[in-house]
Amino acid sequence: AAMREQSIERTKTVCTYCGVGCSFEVWTKERHILKIEPTHGPANGVSTCIKGKFAWDHINSEERLTTPLIREGDRFRKASWDEALALIARRFTETRRQYGPDALAFIASSKCTNEEAWLMQKLARAVVGTNNMDNCSRYCQSPATMGLWRTVGYGGDSGSISDLEKAGLVIGIGTNTAESHPVLATRVKRAHKLRGQRLIVADLREHEMAQRADLFLRPNPGTDFVWLSAVTKYILDEGLEDRAFLAQWVNGLDDYRQSLERYTLAYAEEVTGISQGQLRQVAQEIVQADGTCIMWAMGVTQQCGGSETSTAISNLLLVTGNYMRPGAGSYPLRGHNNVQGASDMGAMPGFVGGYQKVEDQVVREKFQATWGVPLPENKGLDNHEMVHAIHEGTLRVMYLKGEEMAIVDSNVNYVDEAFEKLDFFVVQDMFFSRTAQFADVVLPASPSLEKDGTFTNTERRIQRLYRALDPLGESRPDWEIIQLVANALGAGWSYAHPAEIMDEIASLVPLYAGVTYERLEGFASLQWPVLPDGRDTPLLFTQGFPFPDGKARLYPAEFLPPVEVPDAQYDLHFNNGRMLEHFHEGNMTFQSAGITSKVPGTFVEISPELAAERGLDSGRYVRLISRHGAVRLRTLVTDRVQGRQLYMPMNTPDAQQAVNRLTGSHTDASTHTPAYKDTAVRMEILPDM
Ligand code: SF4
Repeated sequence: AAMREQSIERTKTVCTYCGVGCSFEVWTKERHILKIEPTHGPANGVSTCIKGKFAWDHINSEERLTTPLIREGDRFRKASWDEALALIARRFTETRRQYGPDALAFIASSKCTNEEAWLMQKLARAVVGTNNMDNCSRYCQSPATMGLWRTVGYGGDSGSISDLEKAGLVIGIGTNTAESHPVLATRVKRAHKLRGQRLIVADLREHEMAQRADLFLRPNPGTDFVWLSAVTKYILDEGLEDRAFLAQWVNGLDDYRQSLERYTLAYAEEVTGISQGQLRQVAQEIVQADGTCIMWAMGVTQQCGGSETSTAISNLLLVTGNYMRPGAGSYPLRGHNNVQGASDMGAMPGFVGGYQKVEDQVVREKFQATWGVPLPENKGLDNHEMVHAIHEGTLRVMYLKGEEMAIVDSNVNYVDEAFEKLDFFVVQDMFFSRTAQFADVVLPASPSLEKDGTFTNTERRIQRLYRALDPLGESRPDWEIIQLVANALGAGWSYAHPAEIMDEIASLVPLYAGVTYERLEGFASLQWPVLPDGRDTPLLFTQGFPFPDGKARLYPAEFLPPVEVPDAQYDLHFNNGRMLEHFHEGNMTFQSAGITSKVPGTFVEISPELAAERGLDSGRYVRLISRHGAVRLRTLVTDRVQGRQLYMPMNTPDAQQAVNRLTGSHTDASTHTPAYKDTAVRMEILPDM
């Protein structure tokens, strides 16, 4: 037994799935993963969900890429690293010489580490010379970040996950928290059950959190902005606002009050379908609660008015004095394990690391002094603009790592056509993904268990992950691959370990100024902003807000109604999102046999009313047809959905039947986040197969 024990390694890691950031030890013997043991994770304690515990079969999957691949006609052949890198360097250089650096674009991955996101944006800016750089926060939480920048200055959760338990009231809007952020949801469930915390949920679908809620609001699709604004106006009209907080910490009340004029309770009832009585109750619950936290996710952000609604949420919290103390504030729940970090690292078109603007000369000079090259001055293309630019012929080359754009971007038929048009496409992934099928060169990357680095979770918590296994075959950690590409282009980088990359990040990004690998040893963690002496910030706002006068700003926003309202031709509202067992499109979780046997494919939820009207039951094949495409899948009749609203999980083993065959190219007005939730379809019943 002692010998057996000796060959077992225990390595601390951070979950590779959602933004909760659970950490635990992984027990390995050679390449076998024996056990996941949560012991004292700062975000999760001793909990994990099904994915963190069981969804690790992707590590040793036979589908893993183990060598670089190069396209030859319609086929791919194995290639050496030297050959692949030489080809990439030649094509990047030729394109830059002929068309300029902005003919190239780069996509970082929010499944990769901070250090890898940093190197990707450094490659784009300092080596190639373009700000055409983005990551998948564009698909999810950019509108939440925009709403928070406008009002409170930092785009992050304003407290810790554990602070949620201290709130008197938690409001969840457009977040299926029990399935999308399971371990975080347990905090709310526990406080609700044991401490008498109040819970209000606003959503289209009666998911688990809605069933547990004290008050469940079911607004018409895409109308959250209206009921939030009406509740805020009612609070102001009734004199229920936190006057002391507003006087000391907030600017802009008069203009904001004026902007609310049309949002009466009667108007809100008409637009949202929520009764005036329920709206009054929401207002009363907020002003009576000892601290209100509002959590929100894709149901809010993936709409044409996602930024406006996120702004309205933060405005409501300001008016009621719900910032600057534990158990109050905004919780935009981040999706991927490192979506917060990828944005923090500047994998965005308008910001270098730490949300420092590329258009700011002082910022550019600071980076130039360290990197030794001038940086491009103008904001680059985001990933939505990149797809259009490829169609227009101005963007010719793309280097994408760890993103399944050809499934997860909206209107994928349009994305497919764009990828076909690229002159040269490099895809870096663990698997031969659907996106890789469009590539010219595919580079084999390593999963989280095969690399060192850091992730930053939804509560701004920076945590280390340690290499538990050697990379499979010739695959490599992404940071090593990016360095190889940079050096093939003549960069001369010499990072020997991600710790050295973090030292560079800390020297250039004030939010990470005091981060070192020593301070993150084992299960230690830090929440940004981290001061140079290592003091961190579990509660984001303590001494005011990061504006010149220290005051937050009420920001007058406007209602942007949905554009695909069901009509005679497309008569059903098509909602979509996550499920507990699978993660996003499912490229990783479908590799785990246990999980796939539990949930083998996708389906569409239809309401009992609609099922009765159409003579349908569960398990029947239907075709859903939108203005943008069609899918074929089975029905699941459930009273989680109501009326003429459908719900389809976004994961599928069959890309031809993916959610984004149906979604369109319309976006949130301020951030270009696709309005995935703003989709109308019609349904045809197919003969039994
Ligand atoms: Fe991983 Fe999220 Fe589940 Fe935690 S809650 S184990 S971070 S997927």
